[in-house]
Amino acid sequence: MEQTPHIAVVPSPGMGHLIPLIEFAKRLVNFHNVSVTVIVPTIGTPPKAETAVLESLPKAINYVHLAPVSFEDLPKDSKVETTIFLAVTRSLSSLRDTIKLLVARTALVALISDPFGTDAFSVAKEFDISPYLFFTSNAMNFAFSYMLPKFDETMTCEFRELPDPVIIPGCIPVHGGDLMDPVQDRTNEVYKLLLHHTKQFSFAEGVLLNSFIELEEGAIKALQGKEPGKLPVYPIGPLIQTGSSDEADPSECLKWLDNQPSGSVLFISFGSGGTLSYDQLIELSLGLEMSGQKFLWVARAPNDNSSNAAFFSVESQNDPLSFLPKGFLNRTKGQGIVVCSWAPQTKILAHGSTGGFLSHCGWNSTLESVVHGVPLIAWPLYAEQKMNAIMLAKGLKVALRPKVNQNGIVERDEIGKVVKSLIEGEEGKKVRSRMKEVKDAAIKVLREDGSSMKSLSELVKKWKNKIAPIA
Ligand code: UDP
Repeated sequence: MEQTPHIAVVPSPGMGHLIPLIEFAKRLVNFHNVSVTVIVPTIGTPPKAETAVLESLPKAINYVHLAPVSFEDLPKDSKVETTIFLAVTRSLSSLRDTIKLLVARTALVALISDPFGTDAFSVAKEFDISPYLFFTSNAMNFAFSYMLPKFDETMTCEFRELPDPVIIPGCIPVHGGDLMDPVQDRTNEVYKLLLHHTKQFSFAEGVLLNSFIELEEGAIKALQGKEPGKLPVYPIGPLIQTGSSDEADPSECLKWLDNQPSGSVLFISFGSGGTLSYDQLIELSLGLEMSGQKFLWVARAPNDNSSNAAFFSVESQNDPLSFLPKGFLNRTKGQGIVVCSWAPQTKILAHGSTGGFLSHCGWNSTLESVVHGVPLIAWPLYAEQKMNAIMLAKGLKVALRPKVNQNGIVERDEIGKVVKSLIEGEEGKKVRSRMKEVKDAAIKVLREDGSSMKSLSELVKKWKNKIAPIA
């Protein structure tokens, strides 16, 4: 009797990691007759948005929570990334117990971790299961991360002090100061943890990229070069959120969109955890107002110390509306609406009234915009988002990028100008038409004969052969 191959998927904390891994699981179950268990580390009370995603999973996908792990020993000022990097590491003993059960009950053939949970590979090895890396960002970031241990061996300064841009094969050159946040201070614990994980990438039997050849041809071709010892790379994207997502009032903002002219609304969201400083929040409000353009803004309470303050909670502790400029909501009635903390992003991007997306350039948000053909205003905040913004604005030319002043603030005039330009200007027309081309390519790669579909089928075939080897 033919057995169904079973895959264990281990996402690190954060909606930006959970969502693409869940979509990957859905694709395996729906198109490839593979069964999946999603194994979720527990760090405190899960945000409502996470619970909603897990509870809306199709029956064919199981999920389990690992035993809660504590981070009380970490210094109070440790970064969000430290917790992300350590969540799977600290959960290894309960992960081992879960894998043991799966081995006994299923034809478990592979364990998939994201870049922050590579310590799970050791558990896969113990049980003779194939470890795979699902890289939750793009090919450019994977290529850089994979090269990091080599850079580390030879470098004597900080990346931002390098005189020349960093060359990542097949990619647009990036200045050291624009590389991902965790490499910006090589003495910080976060850098050491990142280095630890990137060194383990080569223990994987292959890397799944949530990208596609037409989007990142240079980077992907360079990664797929025929040199011996290269990790097999499988571009299987774009995988974007398809299920329902939790929100305060599911219909209000979509109903409002229904009543707006086609392509007229700018959607503004900084991902699952992004926060602005108070001064920036004020400039953004007044800039939107000055632009005269329609807007739908997912706002969080400001935070002057961190740009990812809501990463684990998603929702603001304080009412975001109370921080807006006096009279703003009244003055902009009819022009825009503000939603607190969380909105049904993919539904908004799919709506015909949405004409642009001011985004922090998280990779999932980027792909969601690509799939729906919505041009971007690139406003990177943390993690690898500056690299993404460069690729989107300078490389792919699907985004406009506002200027930041010496204090790191995008001023209201600049915001007003760039928003107007995206929605009704000539520059906006160009990026919109370029985004349409990329969208068309994204649709093709996921068809039965498309490159991403074929890439995943090739990998699944390998897994199926593990339980029913070809004679
Ligand atoms: N998201 C959402 N509603 C929101 C904010 C975010 O559904 O109000 C989803 C978004 O659609 C995306 C994910 O959360 O799938 C955010 O991932 P991304 O990689 O863009 O950014 P991160 O949150 O990891 O910084």
